[in-house]
Amino acid sequence: MHVPLLDVRRQNLPLEAELTEAFERVLRSGQFILGAEVEQFETAAAAVAGARFAIGVSSGTDAILVALMALGIGPGDEVICPSFTFFATAGCVARVGAVPVFVDSRAECLNLDPAGIERRITARTKAIIPVHLFGQPADLDEIIEIARRHNLAVIEDAAQSFGAEYHGRPVGAIGEIGTVSFFPSKNLGGLGDSGLVVTNDAPLAERVRRLRNHGMHPKYMHATVGGNFRIDALQAALLGVKLPHLAEYTVRRQRNSAEYTRALSGMAAGAAVAISLPAIHPDRSHIANQYTIRVRRGPAWRPRESPRDALRNRLAERGIAAEIYYPLPLHAQECFRQFGPHPALPVAEEAAGEVLSLPVFPELTAEEAAAVVVEIRQFVSEANA
Ligand SMILES: *Cc1c(COP(=O)(O)O)cnc(C)c1O
Repeated sequence: MHVPLLDVRRQNLPLEAELTEAFERVLRSGQFILGAEVEQFETAAAAVAGARFAIGVSSGTDAILVALMALGIGPGDEVICPSFTFFATAGCVARVGAVPVFVDSRAECLNLDPAGIERRITARTKAIIPVHLFGQPADLDEIIEIARRHNLAVIEDAAQSFGAEYHGRPVGAIGEIGTVSFFPSKNLGGLGDSGLVVTNDAPLAERVRRLRNHGMHPKYMHATVGGNFRIDALQAALLGVKLPHLAEYTVRRQRNSAEYTRALSGMAAGAAVAISLPAIHPDRSHIANQYTIRVRRGPAWRPRESPRDALRNRLAERGIAAEIYYPLPLHAQECFRQFGPHPALPVAEEAAGEVLSLPVFPELTAEEAAAVVVEIRQFVSEANA
């Protein structure tokens, strides 16, 4: 059976009439840059994030970039972030001229480990970027407490976690500022690139608003250098059609995730291969942007390739897509060598060799999920036989 990692058509085509109507509305309005469509979407998105202010931007990456700029972070500054995350988290720190300082992750959930933060804080540290990885919030209480004590800003990278809750509150604006992505693979996926910045801080929101439009205020007056980080009116209109369905998409992702956990648990850890399933902390919601298992090598594993790579290849042979998020931690990336030497980050390094994300998108069918389970179980029992 062919099982894709993601099929955006299954989500978008049932909304074809409404999406087409939104497109025609923007076409006829002639208003393509900012304006009412953007403002309406920002108001609706702010409600989902439980934030006073939401500013639509060109991508999740630009959201991080503009958040750093709005906080005045630049050359000579250091920003603490996880190494086990998507590149953009640290890439944006380097792009503003600051130094990304990498901290290891927690083995259970692969989110930033608060225990590793304090020893990396220096007089130059300005901010911490916890990433709510795979759809589960990071340890915000502990991270915010450390940030307060050292007078640091907390930038929540909620690219994968729009709508996830920590202690009953939506993530994003629990710290000073948060960033969201509407890349097509995220829980709220657009028809192209776009993102969002959220905050409860009015002056910070105003700085983001100006920076996304070349730092311009009033017209043709520039007190600061910004860029073109605007969300398209068309993208805002299309996202406005999909936003009311976000809660339902997330419930379906969580249902698929729970089904994997039910069907894959209870597999005996053998001498060659053991599978660990994603852990969910009971004090926060996991919106299952990814369902990421770990394929662990036992002493009896003989092949040259890792059991994770072997399982991924086996799934591919059977037509099942699975992806490695992420194969190389950021502290090991060539472009960040200039900021080293970096300390060893054993959790990130081990995870990179073991993680495998399975298809968990909302429209995945029960038959497809069952096919994934059958192949994994068969692989593990053959390996451990
Ligand atoms: C997707 C993602 C981003 C970047 O978002 P884009 O919209 O693709 O630019 C940033 N951080 C994390 C953790 C992401 O998953």
